[in-house]
Amino acid sequence: MSIPPVLSLRNLTKSFGGVAAVTDVSFDLEAGIVTALIGPNGAGKSTIINLLTGVFEPNSGTVILDGETITNLPMHERAQRGMARTYQTPQMLQGLSVVANVMTGAYRFGSHVLMRTVLQPWTIAKENLLLASRATDCLKRVQVPELWWSRPATDLPYGLQRRVEIARALAQDPRVILLDEPAAGLNPQETMEIARLLLDVATDGRAVLLVEHDIPMVMSIASHIVVVNFGRHLAAGTAAEIANNPEVITAYLGADEDSVEKAPSQ
Ligand code: ADP
Ligand code: MG
Repeated sequence: MSIPPVLSLRNLTKSFGGVAAVTDVSFDLEAGIVTALIGPNGAGKSTIINLLTGVFEPNSGTVILDGETITNLPMHERAQRGMARTYQTPQMLQGLSVVANVMTGAYRFGSHVLMRTVLQPWTIAKENLLLASRATDCLKRVQVPELWWSRPATDLPYGLQRRVEIARALAQDPRVILLDEPAAGLNPQETMEIARLLLDVATDGRAVLLVEHDIPMVMSIASHIVVVNFGRHLAAGTAAEIANNPEVITAYLGADEDSVEKAPSQ
C-alpha cells in the first residue's frame, strides 16, 4: 500500500487578465523527499507556490493537504496546518532582529499572545523564552553564526538572509516546506550547503518542494522532478529521466541565455 501524499495539486489553473500563468497543473508532494519544480523563467513556478500558500486563489483546480481540501483557506490557516514557505527574494521583517524574525515563524506554538498580554502579562516572558529557544535551535541548524542573532535581520549578508528564511520556515515545524529559488545568488559552495540542508530537512519526514534554476543542484537532491513550461506540465520523473527527455531539453534551449547555460548536459 502506498503512503498518501502530504500535498496534492489537482488541475490548478490561474490567469492574470489575459495571461495564462498556470494551466491544468497536477502533482503530488511526498513526505521524506525533495520534489523539484523546474522550468524556464515565466513558466509559472512562483505562481504555483502562491496558489499553494493561498496568496492567489486559482481559477479552477484543487489543493489538498493531508487529505483535506484547502484550496480556499486563508494563508494563516494553511500555516497552522503545517505549510511553510520561503520567498524568491528574502523577506526579512524590517526593524526586527534575526532571532525575532525566526520567532515569527514559531508563533503558532504560542498561545493567544494578545489576550494574554492584557490578562496575564507575566506568562508572556516565559512563552517568549520558549519561542526564542526554538528560533535559536533553527538558526543553529541552518548555520547562521551566533554573532548575527541579535543584529537587525536586514543588516545580514544576502546569503545569510536566505538561511534565516529557511530557519523561519523550520520554526513552524512544517509538514511541507515550499522554497522559491533558495540558492539564487549564492556561490557554488553556499549552494552545496543549502542542498545538503534541504536533503536533511526532507529526512526529518517533511515534504520539500524546491523551485530552483540551478539544475545540477536539483539533480543532486530531488527524488522527483516536475517540469513546467508556459504554465503547463511538460514532464515528470527522476533526474535521469528528466535529463534525457528531449522535450525538456528543447524547452530549455528555447529559453533565455541563463537557463541555456544551466540546461541538463545531455
Ligand atoms: P516563474 O516563477 O516560473 O518565473 P511566474 O509564476 O513568476 O514564473 O510567472 C508566470 C507568468 O505569470 C508570467 O507571465 C508572469 O508575468 C505572470 N504573473 C505572475 N504573477 C503575476 C501577477 N501578480 N500579476 C500579473 N501577472 C503575473
Ligand atoms: Mg519565480
